[in-house]
Amino acid sequence: MLPFSYQKPANVDGAIALGRNDRREPTRANAQFIAGGTNMLDYMKLGVTRPAELIDLNGLEESELRSVTVSDRQIRLGALSRMAEVEDNKDIQQRAPVLTDSLRLAASRQIRNMASIGGNVLQRTRCEYFRETSWPCNRRNPGSGCAALEGFNRQHAVLGGSDACIATYHGDFAQALVALDAIVEVAGHGGKRRIAFADLHRLPADTPEIETNLQADDVITAITIPIEPWMTRSRYLKIRDRQSYAFALASVAVALDVADGRVRDVRIGLGGLATVPWRAREAEEALKGQTLNEEMATKAAASAFAGAKSRQHNAFKIALGQQTLVRALLETNDMRV
Ligand code: SF4
Repeated sequence: MLPFSYQKPANVDGAIALGRNDRREPTRANAQFIAGGTNMLDYMKLGVTRPAELIDLNGLEESELRSVTVSDRQIRLGALSRMAEVEDNKDIQQRAPVLTDSLRLAASRQIRNMASIGGNVLQRTRCEYFRETSWPCNRRNPGSGCAALEGFNRQHAVLGGSDACIATYHGDFAQALVALDAIVEVAGHGGKRRIAFADLHRLPADTPEIETNLQADDVITAITIPIEPWMTRSRYLKIRDRQSYAFALASVAVALDVADGRVRDVRIGLGGLATVPWRAREAEEALKGQTLNEEMATKAAASAFAGAKSRQHNAFKIALGQQTLVRALLETNDMRV
C-alpha cells in the first residue's frame, strides 16, 4: 500500500474545505473521503485506489448525519448511519419492505455493521479486470482499453454499457432507492443541494472513470425516500450463484400499487444487469392500467430488455433478468399487505 496522510475534520464545512483545498494543491491531489471504509480500504490494498490523503468523515459532529427518521410520507437516512441500523429499523420494514430486503441480501452482516449508507451507494464495481491492476481498464486507467470486452464477461452488464466499459454496478440497496425515487442530499462548496438518486450515477459512455455527478468536495449528508402508503407492497428479489455473500447476477426491486385488480402505479429497479442502478421505465409504462398476470408481466419484462446488448459470456443475463422481473412482479402482486 502506498503511504497516505490522514485528516479527521470536526464538521461538514471542515470536510468540504479539506476536500476542496486538497484538490487545489497538486502535491496533495487525489484526496478521498472515507466513512465505513469497506470498499475504499479493499481497493487501496489492491492498489486500485491510491489516495494521497484520506479525509475521515466519522468525526463529523452533526447528529443528523447519523439519525434515521421515518414519517408517513418520508424516510430520511443520515449518510453516516450504518446499513445494519437501517436494516433493523422496524418502521422502514413496515412501510417499504423493499428497502429492508435489499439491505439484508447485501454483503454480510459484519460488513453491514461497518458500511455507511452514503458510502454504500458510492461503491465501485467488482469487475475483475478493474480489481487486478495488470489488466487494461478504462475505468481505472483512462484510455488504456477494456479487458472485459473480449475477456471473460459473464458478470458484466447487458444494459447501459458502452464500447469503453461494461462493468456492472453491484450494489443492492441502490436498486430500491432508484425505484422509489430517492433524493440524495449533498453539501459542497456552493452550499446544499438535492440530487435525484437516478441522476447520482453516470453511464460509462466515453468516460467510465467519472462514475457520479458529484463534485470532488461534495459530501453526501442524507438520503431521503418519499413514501406512499401502497409501498407496503414492495420487495427485492436477488438471484446469485450462491445464496449468501455473493453479488447479484440479476436482481429486481419492485413497488406495486394495485386497485380493483389493475396496476395504478409501479416502480421497478434492476440490479446486477446494468452499469448503473437501473430504472425500468418502459416496463413500468407497459404495466400501468393493466391486470397483472404472467402474460402481462412477461410483456413488460421483454420491454425492459429491448435495448439490452450482450457479449460472449453474459447473454444468459437477458433471459435471467426477464425471468427475475416476471417472478418479482407476480410475487409482489401476491403479497398480503
Ligand atoms: Fe474496466 Fe469497465 Fe472494462 Fe471492467 S468493464 S475492465 S471496469 S473498463
